[in-house]
Amino acid sequence: MRLVIKFGGNPVKDGESILNDAKLVFSRHEKGDQVVVVTSAMYGVTNQLLDIARKLVEPGANPDQQIPEFMKQISAKHFQACQVAIKKKDILDLTMLTVKETLDTLERALIGISYLGELSPRSQDLISSFGERLSAPILSGSIGSLGATSLYLTGFETGLVTDDHYTEARPITDKIHKLVKPRLNKIVAAKEIPVVTGFIAGTEEGIITTLGRGGSDYTASILGAAWGADEIWIITDVDGIMTADPKVEPSAQVIKTISYLEATELAYFGAKVLHPKMIRPAMDSNIPVRVLNAFKPDNRGTLIISEPSHIEGIVKSITMSKNVSLITVGGAEMIGAHGVAARVSDILGKAAIKVLMISQSSSQADISFAVDRKEIDMALRALRAEFAKRNINWKIACERNVSVIAAVGAGMKGTPGVAARVFSTIGKNKINILTIAQGSSELNISFTVDEDDATKVVRALHAEFRLDREN
Ligand code: ASP
Ligand code: MG
Repeated sequence: MRLVIKFGGNPVKDGESILNDAKLVFSRHEKGDQVVVVTSAMYGVTNQLLDIARKLVEPGANPDQQIPEFMKQISAKHFQACQVAIKKKDILDLTMLTVKETLDTLERALIGISYLGELSPRSQDLISSFGERLSAPILSGSIGSLGATSLYLTGFETGLVTDDHYTEARPITDKIHKLVKPRLNKIVAAKEIPVVTGFIAGTEEGIITTLGRGGSDYTASILGAAWGADEIWIITDVDGIMTADPKVEPSAQVIKTISYLEATELAYFGAKVLHPKMIRPAMDSNIPVRVLNAFKPDNRGTLIISEPSHIEGIVKSITMSKNVSLITVGGAEMIGAHGVAARVSDILGKAAIKVLMISQSSSQADISFAVDRKEIDMALRALRAEFAKRNINWKIACERNVSVIAAVGAGMKGTPGVAARVFSTIGKNKINILTIAQGSSELNISFTVDEDDATKVVRALHAEFRLDREN
């Protein structure tokens, strides 16, 4: 079997977990599978890198102290991981050397940024690329020390070419398809195991870009599609995609099979297991994706395929996105006005605010936008400024503390009465719904409620659709 196996989160937390990953890869290799490995940065490292870079450009930064302190901590973490994960002396020495060189380059980059005093999106991508550039050689060394031949490559070296939309770069698919396949085939034909840095890629000129936070999953599916994998495995620390967040609903179950489209909806609506963009390449090439728990190798996890053979329930999962705010634009002046949604979306889009959900009443007396709470003040400022400039007198209101709840499942399509069941359940629980939206795909019904009601809603709907039963 041709497998792309991606590791992220707690499975790349320390040397021990990396060794555990290496053993899994090695056992598949021993069984005769061709394996391409993709890895995330060690747990928390991308955040730490971005954090230090931002601090270094703040007024009053003290790079002479901050940089050495940071380097000490990040060096210790990666050197320790090498010592634990790599069991052969010669491979250990070589890997330590690579890691040391990469750390030196990182240090120079940080010094550069602190001199410049600014962090452009391009330099941000450079800095955040170091997480994967440090973790990939360690995992590769660990696999090598078990007895296979392994080499590590950056996304760009593998053929992952993107545009120059730094921090959220878009893959150039036809180029990638041409480059990746022969490169990976050559490596696996020589019985070697490539370990590719997730998340990072490069422009055609070779300048480092990243695919957006959490983008290693995306790397795995882009490579899987381009190489022609039989399956893509996402190895993480949860049991799979769940019927609800188990922290909110303890009786939540692992969903055994789910369609690409359902999985995309779930990723989008805040089930943080997969990167929302990762499904598309796999779906287009019809490659099954498995979500598996690194620490429970015998569990079957969740299998994502085009059409699960039997659609049991109607609703598969209830998700909740916290930390959302709601902006409502309204007022009598708006009734019958043209292009309200377009104008508001345009303003928010230009201010780079991501809109999570839109709902509009048919009278057009108001229209509501759910946005990430971190962006609410920016959104309000942008709207007020633009309304003033354009002489628009629509009223702007805001609810800061709301949650978006979504009921997701392909079985809703064409099944009458699902919305009625959702809303009567909420009504019975005496919970007030703020806004409602249903996409025409009919794969989800989503709505907003006050944040304090969100947990109760998730639990009530989970019970209503009997999601606590094994699926
Ligand atoms: N290391 C990157 C991040 O933390 C990519 C990933 O982990 O998927 O966003
Ligand atoms: Mg992730």
